[in-house]
Amino acid sequence: MTTLLARLAGLCALMPAVVLATPADATIAACALDMGTTLDPRATAALERIDGAGRRLLALRSYLRSGQNLAERWSWSDGQIAAYAGSQEQQDMQREIERVREAFAAINPGYELWVNPQVRSLDTQLQNWNTNASVETAGAQLLDALQAHVAPSKLKHGCATRAGAAIQQFLLSYAPSPAPSLAAPGLSPHGQMRAVDFQVHRADQVVAGPSVATIDTDWDAAGWAGRLDTAVRSSGARFLGPLNHPREPWHYTFVPERVGAQ
Ligand SMILES: [Zn+2]
Repeated sequence: MTTLLARLAGLCALMPAVVLATPADATIAACALDMGTTLDPRATAALERIDGAGRRLLALRSYLRSGQNLAERWSWSDGQIAAYAGSQEQQDMQREIERVREAFAAINPGYELWVNPQVRSLDTQLQNWNTNASVETAGAQLLDALQAHVAPSKLKHGCATRAGAAIQQFLLSYAPSPAPSLAAPGLSPHGQMRAVDFQVHRADQVVAGPSVATIDTDWDAAGWAGRLDTAVRSSGARFLGPLNHPREPWHYTFVPERVGAQ
């Protein structure tokens, strides 16, 4: 018992106090960090900044599932964001956004589309992930399911064991419920400015914004999802979408010309 307590005390030093809901959670949260050390160092560092075992496991699952694609999907650094400003790709995307805006304004007089022109930094994604309610709920469900699958007592010798391998296998096949409304930190398509969230504005008022809570009312009942989609398609702009899993009727992915030209 003394040994276990000493180990848990050591783990506590690694994590913010807020994550220590139970010793079992702490053990699993530390395990998630251990497993993360095999990933791209940027993902390893991101995991250390995620609060709580559930949120951390949920992110680890996404990182493991990204496999070889993680590096190319990873959010831009400050240097890459600076290089994008004024680049050909930025100009191309801006032109495509303008085509959608014009098509939308022509068929919806008095309304306009607005797009946040900022790349979503890793810091912002981490902050969102650590505070988002759907991530909290999905993380708690994942933690419960995992503890039913692998008893934390089996992890007292660390994660480089069969129990650790069992956790990894479990994460790779697990489908989160509910589906989190955010991509894991570092993997948001907004982190490379390859996606845009359109908003419908009238004068200075947001008529339909990028919020899951407004999908039923503003996007479906009021019809803005359909009107936005009509504008995107009729404009012929190089966007794919909208995002279906999780459903975000405002989210479209930009396809740079060189991708289609290959
Ligand atoms: Zn989006």
